[in-house]
Amino acid sequence: MRTIKDLDITGKTVFIRCDFNVPKDENGNIADDRRIRGALPTIRYCLERNCKIILASHYERPKPGVYEEKYSLATVVTRLKALLKMASNVTLANNVIGEDTKAKVAAMEPSEVIVLENLRYEAGETQNDENFAKELASMADVYINDAFGACHRAHASIDAMAKLFDANHRAAGFLLSKEVNFFKKTLENPMRPFVAVVGGSKVSGKLEALRQLLDKVDKVIIGGGMAFTFLKAQGYEIGNSLVENDLLDEARTVMIKARKQGVKFYLPVDFVIAPEFSEQCVAKYVPSQEIPKGWMGLDIGPASSRLFREVINDAQTIIWNGPMGVYEMDKYAKGSIKMSHNIADTHATTIVGGGDTADVAQKAGDVDEMTFVSTGGGASLELIEGKALPGIEALKA
Ligand code: AMP
Repeated sequence: MRTIKDLDITGKTVFIRCDFNVPKDENGNIADDRRIRGALPTIRYCLERNCKIILASHYERPKPGVYEEKYSLATVVTRLKALLKMASNVTLANNVIGEDTKAKVAAMEPSEVIVLENLRYEAGETQNDENFAKELASMADVYINDAFGACHRAHASIDAMAKLFDANHRAAGFLLSKEVNFFKKTLENPMRPFVAVVGGSKVSGKLEALRQLLDKVDKVIIGGGMAFTFLKAQGYEIGNSLVENDLLDEARTVMIKARKQGVKFYLPVDFVIAPEFSEQCVAKYVPSQEIPKGWMGLDIGPASSRLFREVINDAQTIIWNGPMGVYEMDKYAKGSIKMSHNIADTHATTIVGGGDTADVAQKAGDVDEMTFVSTGGGASLELIEGKALPGIEALKA
């Protein structure tokens, strides 16, 4: 993959597609700015080459055409200014492709940064609209994609726009190239034992990734809501726990495949259970074979945490995607936090796959102990699945 280093960008107007879709807390403050910090190396590289820099990103899912403040990139721009230590020379445009924005871009000085407003304010973004892409492209000489977290979406600023530039005027930014190379290197040539820790709510979202991982890893640990589909497939009572009844056969097939291939497959041996999906109720610890009718498992129990710690003890590579329980509620967060500590404590190369899992590692204070925390949840899953990501393909087209 060609990177920005392969292009001559000095003094040019460079459009950098970033992923500034950062999580915010209940007060609207940025809860985790890794995605913004992740874009800094590319931005600084352009600043040092006297480029005029246009930054663009989506933020959540606004209604196209409706400029609501909560979807504005204003907070991101404030953080960006602080991180770049540039109070001036970084401005937020009023819109995405308005005449005033285009005029501002045309009047930019070298080393000036303009951040376009939320790309999804424009309907053309998610529709991969060619005309919208042309409007964006008309503002810049060079196109850089540094939005790993959005590369699995064929949207205008990711796909159609990239194709409007020739190979000498488009490339990956440093973050995108680092993410892709890291996953590729790990999946193609892992140090063994290689362990996959997979959790989260549903089997369906991770089934294909699981199938692919079975061909690569030595051990699989399953936690979170998806464990119950596997336990039910083995004939256990799971009460009212989350389950995908239409995937019981698939779950059995995965477990048979694991056995055939000699991949060790570990399910939780105990759970924290509650009568309802809430923190305001009694919770009990039970072995996984003793979930009473009417109760649901909301976190893995302490015995599972100890078991999983032993399982990953000799690992040389660990990929972790998905929390072990409903970590958003403190009462059911322990299993995920302990898993994070246990993974961070190993001497393995540890890769945390985006979104909720990165959030857990952050809450646990383990981010600095992990080898690599991806900025893309969905995108990293698709890489594991072996799928071609539209954003990466468009750079090659
Ligand atoms: P995913 O997006 O598939 O990675 O799932 C993440 C979500 O799974 C988090 O919001 C967790 O609250 C949820 N989750 C984890 N364990 C459970 C569980 N035992 N029951 C219900 N939801 C769960």
